[in-house]
Amino acid sequence: MKLMRVGEIGQEKPAMLDADGKIRDLSGHVSDIAGASISPEGLAKLAAIDPKTLPELQPGRIGACVAGTGKFICIGLNFSDHAAETGAAVPPEPVIFMKATSAIVGPNDNVLIPRGSEKTDWEVELGVVIGKTAKYVSEADALDYVAGYCVSHDVSERAFQTERAGQWTKGKSCDTFGPIGPWLVTKDEIADPQNLGMWLKVNGETMQNGSSKTMVYGVAFVVSYLSQFMSLHPGDVISTGTPPGVGMGMKPPRFLRAGDVVELGIDGLGTQKQTFQADL
Ligand code: ZN
Repeated sequence: MKLMRVGEIGQEKPAMLDADGKIRDLSGHVSDIAGASISPEGLAKLAAIDPKTLPELQPGRIGACVAGTGKFICIGLNFSDHAAETGAAVPPEPVIFMKATSAIVGPNDNVLIPRGSEKTDWEVELGVVIGKTAKYVSEADALDYVAGYCVSHDVSERAFQTERAGQWTKGKSCDTFGPIGPWLVTKDEIADPQNLGMWLKVNGETMQNGSSKTMVYGVAFVVSYLSQFMSLHPGDVISTGTPPGVGMGMKPPRFLRAGDVVELGIDGLGTQKQTFQADL
């Protein structure tokens, strides 16, 4: 299933995309794409519905693909080829940082370049959406706790991230720095999360063209690993790191300016398109 949320900010309705690409209203069945509705039992109930029996919604704004996200956890330097372009060694264990959940926006919403920013950068990432509470789970069982996957854009301000002291959170958490969606694609539709093409363009020019094949710590490992330190809850999102081709790694480095348009996508998970604008 391709689950989504459609409507203006704060008024999104839960919906699914049917096989013909029509948006079908799920609000008669669940209050939102969140919590229990994305548990294994919740997803089984949604899968049993014939989409043709659901009212059709007109295409409009698409919201973040999941609501009620308590934690937005990111994995840093998790692609061997991206670590190389930043000059960093592949870390001996996953590097974890948090992105504030207040950064979450819809996949095609405008992204705000924060005041004082000179180094706003892009990162296409595979997002993992948790569907069941996970604590001390093994790598072998880890995918049982995953509801599905989405495109995640880990927008980053490099000066805030690396030149302003402390750790990375303040360069990752600015308002609108977390577009997720368009869909939460349930895991049954993704045969191998470690074999997905991932791409990103700026103003039509390809910047990132990689694959989750070069991910150092794969999805199952990361879910298991994180669950040794904190419980993961339904609706939590893990952004699993970016392939090479970020602006910071270019010679000379290249960063986003107001008016730039960024498009990104992952095989089977849909695409995003954002216009960057100054946060006045
Ligand atoms: Zn990232």
